Amino acid sequence: MIYLLKGGTNIHADLTAKMPQFVWHLSSETKMHSAKNSVRILSFIIALVVALFCSQQTVIALSPEPAATGTVVRHYVAFKFKDGTASEKIEQIVAAFKHLQTEVPDVLSIEEGVNVSPEHMNKGLTHGFIVSFPTLNARDVYLLHPNHLRFVDLVRPELADSFILDFACDAPEKLTTGIPTNGQNNQIVDLTHVLGPDLPDFHEGSVAFTYDSIYTVKKDGYAGGKFCTPEHYGTHIDAPSHFIDEGASVDQISADSLIRPCVVIDVRDEVKQNSDYQLTVDKIKSFETGGKIPPGSIVLLLTGWEDRWSSPKEYRNADATGTMRFPSFSPEAAAYLADRSVAALGVDTISADYGLSKTYGVHHLALSKGIFLIENLNNLDKLPARNALLFCGVLPIKNGTGAPARILAVVPKP
Ligand SMILES: [Zn+2]
Repeated sequence: MIYLLKGGTNIHADLTAKMPQFVWHLSSETKMHSAKNSVRILSFIIALVVALFCSQQTVIALSPEPAATGTVVRHYVAFKFKDGTASEKIEQIVAAFKHLQTEVPDVLSIEEGVNVSPEHMNKGLTHGFIVSFPTLNARDVYLLHPNHLRFVDLVRPELADSFILDFACDAPEKLTTGIPTNGQNNQIVDLTHVLGPDLPDFHEGSVAFTYDSIYTVKKDGYAGGKFCTPEHYGTHIDAPSHFIDEGASVDQISADSLIRPCVVIDVRDEVKQNSDYQLTVDKIKSFETGGKIPPGSIVLLLTGWEDRWSSPKEYRNADATGTMRFPSFSPEAAAYLADRSVAALGVDTISADYGLSKTYGVHHLALSKGIFLIENLNNLDKLPARNALLFCGVLPIKNGTGAPARILAVVPKP
C-alpha cells in the first residue's frame, strides 16, 4: 500500500486521516514545504523515526516540493525481506539497485545503508537506500523507467515490507565544494590571460585591441585611458546571444551563475596524441567514477594548450589551408553535460568547439540551453579536479554577445 502525502498543505491532517492508529509528531509540518531545509530535514527525521518504530504499514511516500536550484530530491527506500530470503538473493538485489545509477538517466547517486540498530527496533527493515535526483521530474522518470520497473519485479517477490519517503534538501555536492571560509584555508588561482594587444585571436586581425592613454599623472595629476576590444578576445565569456537569436546577452547572465563550484577534466594525455581531440562522453564517465558532476557546476577542460599562448601562431595552429587545429569539447560531451544541468563550460583553447568544427555544435547546444562558455583560460593545471569555486568576473556590456572576463578560482590549500 502506498500513502501519498502531498508535501505542503497539511501533512499532519493527511497522516492522521490516513493512519489514525499512529500519533504523528509533525508539529512543524506546516512549515515543511515553505521553510528551510533544516525544518524539512527535521520533519523528515521525525516522520522516519515514528514510521520505523511504530509502523506496521508498508509504504509511505511524502511528496516533496519541486526542487529549487541547488537542491536535490532524496528518495529514501528501505526493505524488509521475507524470512528465508537467501543472502545471495539479497546481494543480487542490492547490486541491481545500485546498478540503476548507470541504467536510468539523471540519477545523481544511489547510497546504501544497512540497519545497525542496537535496539533491534527496526521492524526488520534491514536494507536502506537513498536515490538522489536533480529534480522531481527526474524522480518521476526514474519511477516509470523500464529498468527500474524490471528491478521492482526482481525485488517484489522477496519483500515482506518496505518503506519509501521522499524529501528535498541541499545538493550534497554543493556542501563539499571549496566555499571560502577565511583566507588561511584557501588560495586564489588566476585563470586569466593578461588583456592587451597581439593576443591569439579567432578572427585574426579583424578588429584590433587597442589601449590609448588619455591622461597622465605627470601632465594631468591623474592617469586614465581608453581601450577597444573585440568581445571574443583574450580570456572571455560567450553569452547565449553569441549564437542564439533572442538569447541572453552578456549583461543578462545571472550573477548567481557566475560564482559556481567547478570540476576540471584533464585530457592533456589525449591531446598529446591528437591535436584535434574532442572530449568524449566516455572520458566524462570515467571522470565521474570519482563522483558525478554536480548540477549547477562549471566544467573546465584542461588540454594543456595554454602552453602555446605566448605564440599566437602556435596557439591558433593553422594548417596549410588556414584551418586552425586545436582540441576542445565535442557536441556529444556538451549534450551529456547539459543533461547534468551544468552552468557553464570552459576551456584553455580559443573555442569551445575544436578547430576543425564548421558547425559549432558545442556553441549551439550549450548556448541554446543558457549554458555560457569560457574560452582562452589559463592556469587550469593549478586547479584540483574538484572542490574549487569559480568566480567569473565578466564585463556586463549591454547587449554584448560576450566580453573579456577575469576568471578566478578559490582553491582549498593542500
Ligand atoms: Zn567567444
